[in-house]
Amino acid sequence: MNKRVVVTGGAGYIGSHTVVELVKAGYTPVILDDFSNSTKEVLSGLKAILGFEPALEEVDCSSRTELLQAFDRIAAEGTIDGIIHFAAFKAVGESTQRPLKYYANNIASTVHILEASETHNVSNLVFSSSCTVYGQPDTIPVDEEAPVKGAESPYGYTKQVCERIITDFVASGSPLKAALLRYFNPIGAHPSSHIGELPLGHPNNLVPYLTQAAAKLRDPLTVFGSDYPTPDGTCIRDYIHVMDLANAHVSALHWLSEQENACEAFNLGTGHGNSVLEVIQAFEQATGVPVPHNIGARRPGDITAIFAEASKARHELSWTCKYSLEDALRDAWNWQCTLID
Ligand code: UDP
Repeated sequence: MNKRVVVTGGAGYIGSHTVVELVKAGYTPVILDDFSNSTKEVLSGLKAILGFEPALEEVDCSSRTELLQAFDRIAAEGTIDGIIHFAAFKAVGESTQRPLKYYANNIASTVHILEASETHNVSNLVFSSSCTVYGQPDTIPVDEEAPVKGAESPYGYTKQVCERIITDFVASGSPLKAALLRYFNPIGAHPSSHIGELPLGHPNNLVPYLTQAAAKLRDPLTVFGSDYPTPDGTCIRDYIHVMDLANAHVSALHWLSEQENACEAFNLGTGHGNSVLEVIQAFEQATGVPVPHNIGARRPGDITAIFAEASKARHELSWTCKYSLEDALRDAWNWQCTLID
């Protein structure tokens, strides 16, 4: 029988792409999602790619009763081999306006997942974390030994706290093993264009805004600041194709299955930084579509430059990125085009 993996937030952006990669690798995913930041159309997209709709439990992971009951039902069908925990709110700006919403949801969900893992003897946990835990790093590329800095937002703080909660739980003698995956900037979509990023309302992240501006659904893109101390004056980030990121979760599960005890953090990035202007240029080259844009003021709270030292994941998880920045931007554009139709 295939190994069964519970994927909280499996209908979300990274979760849905990970579900595809899990099935491809021979796992049976069970999605837990309350559709608070996704839509049920994701399930049709998954069906178009996989040929079937993955199992789904519609639950809010921050509700202890709902979550534990869902795990009871899943466990009644057989062993749960692993959990990948994505379900969390992720809008940095909103988290500064509504910190309690973020603390209550993101932290409670993680605690409940750990309780469920204990009840059902699940020994492998992959946690969806973020390079935001590094704050403004002292040196770049940033590796996993870099100190966790004061969080820049309540969202960032929830990632730091949840990493700590998981680390403490593992250290307490629990049989659970954990991989804490620190994402850099995931972009792109499944190459089939059946699933992709679905920002509800005004997109705050660069690539969803860029594709909507290129499609003339939004005003021109504002490049937030061109006076940073970088070669072209715009901020630098490490943009990683969501399929590469998804695939790393499968590698992390495999790695966990070979460990006796583990709670390790891994950076998931390409190891290369690109500026905002380079992203615009790469998009235009990859798609032939111009990006209407202008230069504006800096966005408060933005870090000048961050990109990953990603060799730990490459070596220990035996994982590499297969897609280029152009691939990711082309896939993001093709996905955007399906949304216009
Ligand atoms: N950015 C921009 N215009 C936008 C959105 C983002 O110039 O409309 C820039 C932003 O200042 C940052 C980069 O694009 O330098 C990536 O921003 P995003 O919000 O996607 O990710 P994060 O800042 O969390 O790394």
